[in-house]
Amino acid sequence: MKDKPAHQLPSFAGYLNQVFAFRTAAERLRDARQDPEFSPQSVFLAVFYAFVFRLPSFQPLEAELAQPALRSWLGLERAFRDDVLRYSLCSFDLDGLRQMLVTVNRCLKRNKAFDAGRLQGRIVAALDGIEGLSSYSRCCESCLQRRVTTLDDDGPPVERTQYYHRAVGCQIVSAPVKPFLAVEWLQPGEGEDTAARRLLAQLPELYGSPFFDILLLDSLYAQAPVPNRGLAAVTLIRGLAFALSSAFTLLHSKIVRLYQTPRIEVARQLHRSLWQMQPPARAPTVPAGAS
Ligand SMILES: [Zn+2]
Repeated sequence: MKDKPAHQLPSFAGYLNQVFAFRTAAERLRDARQDPEFSPQSVFLAVFYAFVFRLPSFQPLEAELAQPALRSWLGLERAFRDDVLRYSLCSFDLDGLRQMLVTVNRCLKRNKAFDAGRLQGRIVAALDGIEGLSSYSRCCESCLQRRVTTLDDDGPPVERTQYYHRAVGCQIVSAPVKPFLAVEWLQPGEGEDTAARRLLAQLPELYGSPFFDILLLDSLYAQAPVPNRGLAAVTLIRGLAFALSSAFTLLHSKIVRLYQTPRIEVARQLHRSLWQMQPPARAPTVPAGAS
């Protein structure tokens, strides 16, 4: 038999649905649009897809939406444009996304994804800064500001005001799978320590009993409003994509190593399997040239 097919990874879509009830969880997500043509679930799945496959911007996603198989996975009859993403994400249900992240993390812990790498039996979490949406020209009322010196090709250094958003995330760091547990955004005039204390105060509420063993702080801070809902939604979806794709890849890293599957082939199989959420029951096709 020539053109022997590469070793197949199990289906990523199957993993998401069977282990995390991903599709059911996505169906519960909402945004504030009235009777939208494109559902919040479709928007969520499209952004999730873009992060899993590390698309650099919406433009390549728009090109991929031309493929019927992807549209079918997203539950779309036709492709949408970036204004749909913008409107949906700017009013997205952040509590639903947070809850999904918590459920995924709890499930990873139950399935012992954080057991490898324990430090003397302990799970370690750390705080990490996340930054998004920096601009010299556009800002919103919750933007943070800083002065930045830029060098032009010929002229003297120019100092300009840069607007940006910054958050503090709490992330598992001892295990090979390193999901964010929660993210808290800095308000204008606030230091990271304030946001960090607020974030750590939320964790028991989100996760119940202590989820990790090292890193604890007391806090008296109340939860602040989210400065930019669209950015917050995108950050949470990125967190989900990061946790789930790295957990899946790690779970099957033995297969990848054993069969020396090239990275591109892993990506191709993940890509294809994600589209096959409910594969039709039929006999496998015989590879060309099989005897
Ligand atoms: Zn802003």
